[in-house]
Amino acid sequence: MPDLIPTRLPDQADIPERRRFLTALSLLPAAGAGAAWMSGPTAHAQPQVNSRAHIVIVGGGAAGLTAANRLATGLQGAKITVVDARKEHYYQPGFTLVASGIKPQNYVVTGTADYLPQGVEWVQASAAEIDPESRKVVTSDGKTLNYDFLIVASGLKLDYAAIPGMDTERIGQNGLGSIYHSPQAAQATWTSLSSFADKGGVAVFSRPATEMKCAGAPLKYTFISDDHLRRRGTRSKSEIIYNAHNKAFFSVPIVSEKVRMLFEDRGVKTRMERVLASIDIDKRVATFKTPDGTEEQPYDFINVIPPMRAPDVVRNSPLRWQTGPWAADGWMEVDRHTLRHKRYPNVFGVGDVAGVPKGKTAASVKWQVPVAVDHLLASIAGKESTASYNGYTSCPLITRLGQAMLVEFDYKDNLTPSFPGIIAPLEELWISWVMKTMALKPTYLSMLRGRA
Ligand SMILES: Cc1cc2nc3c(=O)[nH]c(=O)nc-3n(C[C@H](O)[C@H](O)[C@H](O)COP(=O)(O)OP(=O)(O)OC[C@H]3O[C@@H](n4cnc5c(N)ncnc54)[C@H](O)[C@@H]3O)c2cc1C
Repeated sequence: MPDLIPTRLPDQADIPERRRFLTALSLLPAAGAGAAWMSGPTAHAQPQVNSRAHIVIVGGGAAGLTAANRLATGLQGAKITVVDARKEHYYQPGFTLVASGIKPQNYVVTGTADYLPQGVEWVQASAAEIDPESRKVVTSDGKTLNYDFLIVASGLKLDYAAIPGMDTERIGQNGLGSIYHSPQAAQATWTSLSSFADKGGVAVFSRPATEMKCAGAPLKYTFISDDHLRRRGTRSKSEIIYNAHNKAFFSVPIVSEKVRMLFEDRGVKTRMERVLASIDIDKRVATFKTPDGTEEQPYDFINVIPPMRAPDVVRNSPLRWQTGPWAADGWMEVDRHTLRHKRYPNVFGVGDVAGVPKGKTAASVKWQVPVAVDHLLASIAGKESTASYNGYTSCPLITRLGQAMLVEFDYKDNLTPSFPGIIAPLEELWISWVMKTMALKPTYLSMLRGRA
């Protein structure tokens, strides 16, 4: 087993910061050390609604399970069906930690069944077709599920096939890493990074030009790799290159500028408007699209992050955006504040699949699902809901082992710190590191159960 870095105090942790942490803890809700994104509406806020409606949820990941639990609590007599072939549940915010040697692989794997509420039916198959006109979902094993209400929570598709030369089977070999693919790949990426850090060399990082989940993860992993090289004494003979897909490092300008300053401080070389076009794993050469053509970047270690799109079942359905920035990749056409489909009012889209300006984090799932469920329950009860999602999302941006910036923002790019005066969003803090490495998982699991 490669060396694991324990979750612990960094050398530079000071007493005032610990004091502030304890204050923060005392301010937090029942989730204990839960991060800011974990406060919010509870599942028990509403009286139960009696109904014989059939609600189908496509996808039993973070958003699907949260929705199932909230609906099971809010409804009496209804039939709730979750459709998902995957038996394992992945705690994806932990993938970066596994790929950094901070947590073992089993830290991110539990079982879907562990979070399914009593009385909810689980169809262990994929949804192959969604027909919102006739209100039915057809599964990969040929079953037809007729619904009264549909929640699509299918996450997104990692389109590795769009990168010629990429082979996910080879993650962990020849300096090839990819933290997004799976828990196994995150572990294999750590093997690759760890042996690279022993020798040093050229490390290449990038992000896709599409929408993506946790847009902070490519940046975090660059900072973490830099720190590992420093700890092994090989940073001075190494070069780190970060390729931004456009002219910024992050969609929120003030955060982008902070990242630029940190990259400069850490000696990370940056290339703008570079998108990974193909890779030669044997020769260890990555080819990037640039505004002027292509550019080859030889590497000793690379973290490949593929383009991300809506899963085919949504892309090939009428639920996708028909025009506009989210049409090409098939994201779902939902209202950004209610998560209700704009053309099919008995359909909702939550989590990564939603075609909304921000989000694609577990933190946004936390705030989206209660809103969508509230609107769904109101529709069943013949009422109107005023619940509204403001685009809240959060990114604990690790900037070195032992420190992170807890960046929280909304649709308007406003920074929305949950603990103003205690956790400064653009400061590298040990508190924020503790949030990411220790507090997020229990509160995430509590969210799945509809309790956070
Ligand atoms: C490396 C990495 C780091 C991250 N870091 C953070 C972080 O620090 N903070 C944070 O808040 N978020 C983070 N995230 C993002 C977060 O994990 C996702 O945004 C969140 O899981 C989205 O929930 P979801 O339910 O939409 O998708 P998922 O949790 O991916 O679940 C989708 C489910 O749908 C199922 N499915 C897919 N297709 C079908 C189909 N056709 N039929 C039926 N079921 C289907 C899948 O099997 C899966 O179970 C990170 C993600 C990654 C990969």
